[in-house]
Amino acid sequence: MRDKSCTLTGISAAVRTYEQLVSVIDHIGRYREKNAPVVRVLVDGDLYLGDSRVREQIRNGRSCDSKQAAEGVGGALTMPEPATEGVGEALTMPEPEWILSLPAVLRAPDHEYLEEAFRAVQVSEIFSGVMTGNLEGLGYLLEQDYRGKLYADSNFYLWNSGAVSLWKDTFSGACLPLELKSGEQRELMKTSPLPWEKMIYGRIPMMVTANCAAKTMGNCVKYAPDVKKSDVLWLRDRLGKSFPVLLNCRHCFNIVYNSVPLSLHREIGKWADRAILRLQFTVESGEETAACLDFFLKQLHNAASSGRISEDSGKPPFGEYTTGHEKRGVL
Ligand SMILES: [Zn+2]
Repeated sequence: MRDKSCTLTGISAAVRTYEQLVSVIDHIGRYREKNAPVVRVLVDGDLYLGDSRVREQIRNGRSCDSKQAAEGVGGALTMPEPATEGVGEALTMPEPEWILSLPAVLRAPDHEYLEEAFRAVQVSEIFSGVMTGNLEGLGYLLEQDYRGKLYADSNFYLWNSGAVSLWKDTFSGACLPLELKSGEQRELMKTSPLPWEKMIYGRIPMMVTANCAAKTMGNCVKYAPDVKKSDVLWLRDRLGKSFPVLLNCRHCFNIVYNSVPLSLHREIGKWADRAILRLQFTVESGEETAACLDFFLKQLHNAASSGRISEDSGKPPFGEYTTGHEKRGVL
């Protein structure tokens, strides 16, 4: 059956809450003996710096390791036989790498925050790199002559071959832009050997506003001691659809997300051997995060065994979803 196997790149899990992080660590632990397919964990910088339990959780999770040899992230994983006995069979995976993810909006007063984040990355012995979606974060790290891995997030402007060729030597990897359709993404990948990540699950930001909606309502908590600095509210439109809004008062910006998540589970077979597949968790509870990880692991097994998703792959645990711009770009 080896002729039906294919080489996969693995899953990247992005978390912004403690509960999501715990679920990801639990998932890695549960499949460790069989080698979990999570090859990269992106930890929100605000979460890492704002919650003292996080460092301990990651350390505990990592110390459970590792009879399995770590082969270094970025190496391919092989599924030698189709997995027909359920999930967690026959994966050969590297240990995950841990990356600190910088905020979507940074301003001059965030210099102190960047210093704190940079220090945390340097001394933590957890993180092997940093991900940024903006020039401000990148500029700071280049100023510090940062030698770790640097990743560009999906909102860093890498829409065309010119932009990719400008930045290809700066970054160790990048996430494909959400605005390009699949054919355009593939063309972009041909222009650079950068290891690419592709978001296959997550809420797409519809609007990022660099003002503080909480301040407008007289509730900004930026300088309030011992108060949670970010929260999710829900906006309901006239059709009754609910849109999550992330209010971030550590940096005072807001992100309005789509009412349903992007899910490309039916497209996994086309991407699983080309890019690391990102699950971007935003508003999910710990249980929803776990269900999502299990669901996509199953899809990955199906893709590895047959090269495409079969009809019995199961229903997604999140109900309604969108395929974003996968088939129709924005231009
Ligand atoms: Zn604020």
